Amino acid sequence: MKRKRVLITGAAGFLGSHLCDRFIKEGYHVIGMDNLITGDLQNIEHLFGLENFEFAHHDVSKFVHVSGDLDYILHFASPASPIDYLKIPIQTLKVGSLGTHNLLGLAKNKKARMLIASTSEVYGDPSVNPQPEEYWGNVNPVGPRGVYDEAKRFQEAMTMAYHTFHGLETRIVRIFNTYGPRMRLNDGRVLPAFIGQALRGEDLTVFGDGSQTRSFCYVDDLIEGIYRLLLSDYAMPVNIGNPDEITIKQFGEEIIKLTGTHQKLVLRDLPVDDPKQRRPDITKARTILGWEPKVSRAEGLKITYEYFKSLPQEALINKDH
Ligand code: NAD
Ligand code: UDP
Repeated sequence: MKRKRVLITGAAGFLGSHLCDRFIKEGYHVIGMDNLITGDLQNIEHLFGLENFEFAHHDVSKFVHVSGDLDYILHFASPASPIDYLKIPIQTLKVGSLGTHNLLGLAKNKKARMLIASTSEVYGDPSVNPQPEEYWGNVNPVGPRGVYDEAKRFQEAMTMAYHTFHGLETRIVRIFNTYGPRMRLNDGRVLPAFIGQALRGEDLTVFGDGSQTRSFCYVDDLIEGIYRLLLSDYAMPVNIGNPDEITIKQFGEEIIKLTGTHQKLVLRDLPVDDPKQRRPDITKARTILGWEPKVSRAEGLKITYEYFKSLPQEALINKDH
């Protein structure tokens, strides 16, 4: 039987690499595409040599060509951590806008179904908590995070336009903070930041007073939700995340306990426009996809800590951002 063919952009990144693994496991032919701007080939090196995996080194903000049929496109290419997208704001805007347009065009040509990786950041600094998909958000377009948030909002609008005007099959997943093995230790996101600091024997830097909240989802749960959404017939956005909300200060205390570090929490300035609260309303994922997270934070953090501990010593060096 002919294998279904899927293009995954951002394949060398954290989430893209886990998606590649999942689709390979399900028997698909996977084409991974990445320009390695924030990703690392090590995340997918175990797939090289498989007959149903190929890799294309390409910037999707430029015209995208793929030979042969495609059944699905999953667009995950984009810087995702605040320090990454603040460092490369124009590329971030381009991959969300031009990159999405290129891939929608490809999907239309190939008659493929396209799923885009949107984000809880489309809700900005939300004034309702938890956030249901119907909430329109509270985004500062000209603030530092605007480059990411508005690119993602444009991406959703463009995707819906192709759905409505071209009849393209599309899916939109709004991903909430996700963690797990293959995050970059120095990507600036709170979990690798705290674990990296604990492993180096440094104090853990809490931004602001630490009362802001996040809700952390383990990567395997997220991938399952995305897989179900892709195969569903639902074209409107769906939140995928773990509703277990925690303050950043409590989170820091959990990491101190997990790692057994003797260091303490220290307070640093809160970044501009840092959302004060974030928690997904997952009613839609529950009812439409029959999905809910299965991995508790305690279990997920343990697995992730073991992963970071297993990295070579050089990975611990705190590179200057
Ligand atoms: P990541 O930085 O680990 O992976 C992104 C990948 O995209 C990298 O490998 C990078 O090299 C690649 N890339 C970036 N621009 C590209 C371009 N123009 N052409 C080709 N490749 C390009 O980030 P991640 O956490 O895996 O995030 C993946 C996707 O999920 C992003 O679209 C992000 O916005 C979204 N998302 C992630 C989270 C999360 O918690 N991890 C939350 C919400 C949304
Ligand atoms: N944060 C922190 N210390 C760090 C890194 C991040 O206190 O060293 C905070 C950050 O200000 C935010 C939360 O942790 O309130 C989550 O940040 P992250 O960059 O992981 O993701 P965000 O949800 O803000 O995109």
